[in-house]
Amino acid sequence: METVSIAKSAGYDLPGLRSAVIELLKPIGGMSAFISSGDRVLLKPNMLSAKEPDKAVTTHPALVQVVAELVKEAGGIALIGDSPGIGGFMRVAEKCGLVDAARKSGATLIEFNEAVELQGLGTFRSIHLARAYYEADKIINLPKLKTHEMMTMTCAVKNLFGAVVGAEKAGWHLKAGRSQQLFAQLMLEIYQLKKPALNIVDAVVAMEGNGPGSGDPIKLGLLIAGINPVAVDVIAGRLAGIPADLLHIEREAARMGLPGAVIDNIEVCGVPLETIPETSFRLPAGMDVQFGLPGFLAKALKNHLTSYPVADMKTCVLCGVCRDACPPVAITIQNSALSVDKARCIRCWCCRELCPLDAMQTKRGLLLRALMLISGRESSCYSSSSEPKGISR
Ligand code: SF4
Ligand code: SF4
Repeated sequence: METVSIAKSAGYDLPGLRSAVIELLKPIGGMSAFISSGDRVLLKPNMLSAKEPDKAVTTHPALVQVVAELVKEAGGIALIGDSPGIGGFMRVAEKCGLVDAARKSGATLIEFNEAVELQGLGTFRSIHLARAYYEADKIINLPKLKTHEMMTMTCAVKNLFGAVVGAEKAGWHLKAGRSQQLFAQLMLEIYQLKKPALNIVDAVVAMEGNGPGSGDPIKLGLLIAGINPVAVDVIAGRLAGIPADLLHIEREAARMGLPGAVIDNIEVCGVPLETIPETSFRLPAGMDVQFGLPGFLAKALKNHLTSYPVADMKTCVLCGVCRDACPPVAITIQNSALSVDKARCIRCWCCRELCPLDAMQTKRGLLLRALMLISGRESSCYSSSSEPKGISR
């Protein structure tokens, strides 16, 4: 049986958040159950890009600060590290409030720039992970709960992909990103190569819609914690109201027989699940939808059956960030115009995730639009709108 704890936090004010984190960790032994004196403890927040904390793109700095302080009080040495998807590490850390959080808590910021090569666990021959991540005595994983265009949801397991250093992420998108199942296997191998000691999810304000970079903040007022990130994600998905069959990583974990993937084998402590109001996150517009078509037909009709990225030229400034990040080099900028080669595009959505101006939009293929309309899925949980909604709920 895996244990996942839930606590409420009305917001990010430091005294209230600190009490909430202490309450959250009580059922699983408190911070001292995870940290020994002198441990070098790496806190791994989500530092996707240089966005202010209230955009809900990155883990809130107040949570990182509180956890760093608790680590120090338990006798550990707190480090904060990640490898942002876009932008220099210090620029991202500054913008998302982590420079301040590190200074106030006495933690050290560490950029992931050096990697160690590790043998894969079966699906992949070898994987390079950040040395600072792999060699830390303990990892405390601090994900933000968000929707994700390619994987439906990003939370505890997916956040560990940040342990892959910089440009190698694009290489993995190219190798494994053509299939959500293969990409899920990669995420699960990364998790198993270096298991976090503890996972604490920032779901005080989460993200719905076109996550992980361009969605809308949604207030849940919750923190979720556990030792097993798969179990933590299963509960997070349930709290976000995302159908279990759309959670690719957790579905793959169940297929692989990994502990924590089956909700019946998870004991929830703290706030009882049934007392938390039901929510249903709006899902990303570009998500793949399976209509049960045979593989050969789905492949042949790929451009009509899937969504694809299109730049909104009223917003796009032709900065080239998306082009440089695109794993299969499907984006070209020529004569003041940006174009996407749909046949080459693997629908990894890195371009959308990394565009600093949210100029990369999603367009649905003709057949996809028709099938969604016929099947009624459009109205239930999908939205094609990318208009910001502000904080809801
Ligand atoms: S879509 Fe965004 S990232 Fe790509 S060139 Fe335009 S502004 Fe830059
Ligand atoms: S165009 Fe965008 S979605 Fe397509 S492969 Fe390139 S980065 Fe990925």
